[in-house]
Amino acid sequence: MPSAPAIAKNLRETRELMDLACQRAGRRPESVRLLAVSKTFAADDVAAAHAAGQTAFGENYVQEGVAKVAALAALGLEWHFIGPIQSNKTRPIAEHFSWVHSIDRLKIAERLSAQRPAHLPDLQVCLQVNISGETSKSGIESAAILRLAREVAALPRLRLRGLMTIPRPAATLAEQRAPFRELRLLLEAINAAGIGCDTLSMGMSADLEAAILEGATIVRVGTAIFGARSATG
Ligand SMILES: *Cc1c(COP(=O)(O)O)cnc(C)c1O
Repeated sequence: MPSAPAIAKNLRETRELMDLACQRAGRRPESVRLLAVSKTFAADDVAAAHAAGQTAFGENYVQEGVAKVAALAALGLEWHFIGPIQSNKTRPIAEHFSWVHSIDRLKIAERLSAQRPAHLPDLQVCLQVNISGETSKSGIESAAILRLAREVAALPRLRLRGLMTIPRPAATLAEQRAPFRELRLLLEAINAAGIGCDTLSMGMSADLEAAILEGATIVRVGTAIFGARSATG
């Protein structure tokens, strides 16, 4: 379990890396948000990150995420669901999260739309794209994105914000940038079709610089903030 000072220091260093990447890309630092991915870590670790100025957190597992949302309700944090979604688990996601990054089929979006409580703001959603074409990774194929984007954009109580991807790990900056560039071009195609989107959720601990150079607006960072996860996480 990481100490609170370690979390604060890691957050500072992560924000510095992001600022440097923004400088290099000629982008304003405010144009990229940091999502702290707290999966497998305790509510106390999230509270420590919040004390160090972090307000947006990402979770992958429904039960674990909902427990942290409830335990930390008093802090007014912004919670993002970023993990694979089973259709029988959509209700707690619709009821407890502000964002969902990992929609990969219409059925999931329809259920989230129907289950989003009327007293909450629209659920902010991204479509997860399988950009490297890996069959093992979840996400929709690039060719099917425009159609799904049209369908999701039409659903009530959801607001389609953009695209998310988890590319296969790559060693060099150039190799890391290639799939992120593809995602940016896909978002441009969606916008050209008249579906207004503003979000590219891409970049993790190992490749956030490449993602920012290619236009990421949200980077999802776990390890660099909270430390290594155990093998099961
Ligand atoms: C775990 C996870 C992250 C964070 O990955 P790190 O390498 O620990 O920064 C980001 N996005 C998704 C979807 C994840 O599951």
